[in-house]
Amino acid sequence: MSHDRPIGILGGTFDPPHFGHLRPALELVETLELDHMRLIPSHIPPHRPQPVATATQRLAMLQRACGEERRFQVDDRELQRNGPSYTLDTLRALREQWPDRPICFCLGMDALLGLPQWYHWQELTELAHIVVSYRPGWSLESAELDEDLREWLKPRLTRNMADLQQQRCGQVWLQEVSQLAISATDIRRRIAEGHSPRFLMPEPVWQYIQQQQLYGVR
Ligand code: ATP
Repeated sequence: MSHDRPIGILGGTFDPPHFGHLRPALELVETLELDHMRLIPSHIPPHRPQPVATATQRLAMLQRACGEERRFQVDDRELQRNGPSYTLDTLRALREQWPDRPICFCLGMDALLGLPQWYHWQELTELAHIVVSYRPGWSLESAELDEDLREWLKPRLTRNMADLQQQRCGQVWLQEVSQLAISATDIRRRIAEGHSPRFLMPEPVWQYIQQQQLYGVR
């Protein structure tokens, strides 16, 4: 039984960070009464398309994106390691740091569909809860889920929020959040075409992009 508020975890490339990351993350903090959300920029494995911005720049943008919001904390532990980290390893490290706290690993429904491809995915719930954020109108019943995943989810799904607070790990929670049709790919394209990404991201991030001349800014 835990009496501390859960910690949320949100991983991503953040190349660049935008309101599509930040707004749903804040809604999760407030709805699930999280202590804070840790935003963890990832190393990109060499076989994937590499981010345009360097790790240092992605980190700097994320820090500017979070600004004064104390319920967001930028965590650079994956960038500190030489190679890419498996989510499982990151969760193990967080678990060592917070042995008794509930940890909510947050992912979008798109990521949920790909979960069976992750390294030892079935062990994730031995370390954390999984929180799936979904856009209004989506339902698990109509989702095209892999059968193994559907069977695995069933006994773990809870509709009782107290489970997330009182247990350290092991539960799956589905949370509707505002969906903003913003992607980093689209933002990079707009900038490269000479258009402004203003109002899709916090202003300090846009200022940093201009200062560093990222994404082909003109
Ligand atoms: P890219 O376009 O470069 O693939 P992205 O905008 O999808 O990037 P990521 O850094 O890859 O951003 O995403 C980090 C996390 O944020 C992922 O879990 C992703 O599902 C989620 N996310 C990204 N954009 C949105 C959005 N508009 N609404 C909700 N979640 C989002």
